[in-house]
Amino acid sequence: LWGRVKNVCKQNGLLILSVLAVVIGCLLGFFLRGKQLSEQEVKYFQFPGELLMRMLKMLILPLVVSRACACFGFKYRTQRVPELIPKPTVAQLLDETTTRRVYIYGIQDDNGSDVQNFSLDLTPPPDVIMKTSPGTSEGMNVLGIVIFSATMGIMLGRMGPNGSALVNFCQSLNEAVLKIVAIVIWYFPFGIVFLVAGKILEMDDPSAMGKKLGFYAITVVMGLVLHGLFILPAMYFFITKKSPIVYIRGILQALLISLATSSSSATLPITFKCLLENNHIDRRIIRFVLPVGATINMDGTALYEAVAAIFIAQVNNYELDFGQIITISITATAASIGAAGIPQAGLVTMVIVLTSVGLPTDDITLIIAVDWALDRFRTMVNVMGDALATGIMAHICRKDFVKEGEQVRAFKAKL
Ligand code: ASP
Repeated sequence: LWGRVKNVCKQNGLLILSVLAVVIGCLLGFFLRGKQLSEQEVKYFQFPGELLMRMLKMLILPLVVSRACACFGFKYRTQRVPELIPKPTVAQLLDETTTRRVYIYGIQDDNGSDVQNFSLDLTPPPDVIMKTSPGTSEGMNVLGIVIFSATMGIMLGRMGPNGSALVNFCQSLNEAVLKIVAIVIWYFPFGIVFLVAGKILEMDDPSAMGKKLGFYAITVVMGLVLHGLFILPAMYFFITKKSPIVYIRGILQALLISLATSSSSATLPITFKCLLENNHIDRRIIRFVLPVGATINMDGTALYEAVAAIFIAQVNNYELDFGQIITISITATAASIGAAGIPQAGLVTMVIVLTSVGLPTDDITLIIAVDWALDRFRTMVNVMGDALATGIMAHICRKDFVKEGEQVRAFKAKL
């Protein structure tokens, strides 16, 4: 039993530490609220959390540019699509997921830092350190950068061998940034204690906020359930006229793995196996549709980002008009395309959605406390969407395969 516990802790070390950090942060925040700290003391206390945000913001630009460029450049060289299917074992993937958990928190700031409000006759040490960290990205048009990088990637991909040098460069850059991220990640649980506690210290009524957060989480889960259990299966049924229940039963193992790993990329080999062995989908269709789906088709993430943006607007008493809600929906869909299939990647692209309607990106800290749980459910919906899309594609292409089979038979008969 001890061996098993050790194994679970090793594989989920960061997750366990993150949950602990949220709990400790809450306890510390409530404890310190009774101590009537001055504004300046609160600022000092929030410093480790602010440092974490700075480190993450520092990573967003190289991460977004290199990822979009390398991903789109790579994808458009279609002869390499099958290579997108990862070959490692699930255990290795789980391990990789743990080290990549970080990808997550590249969060843009467009408000500057509150630390600048410190008395300057004093120039407190945190301010000095803040200025040495290149974390701010004020006014950065993330969506514009994503679109530019993706277009660049597509063009490089189309250039074939001539463009591959730059695509490889972006790929190496992406890997290097992920390595930096892997270092930052271990600071994450420490930073989150202060982020959560600092937020509680700032709030007028934390218990009311807890309630709102609870409703937010329930809304996201209900939306995901509605989408995953009704809308997606209904689409599958209307197009293929086959039972979605039988189809979903075939991919149950993949859904459970996605729930456990919070990563659609890590689940890819299992989804592949389920579709091939249980649902008998043609290998060529799976090879093409599944990797593309895992990269750009993220229904769960899009849904969550839209709900989260509306939640942040409501917390700030910001009235959204109909046009802004449409903008949020469209941007959330576009942003989910940019999110990687790894744990909590949706939080990074959340920035794009918030900036599109002028909401404060710093309020992402509010939803971090529940995101580790919501991520699991939205990943499950992402995987289900990809799997059902593969089934629909197989149905649409079935006539081509029959024709192909006939041609092969005719050819063989001729011989
Ligand atoms: N974890 C999700 C996935 O792997 C992405 C996200 O954070 O929304 O599909």
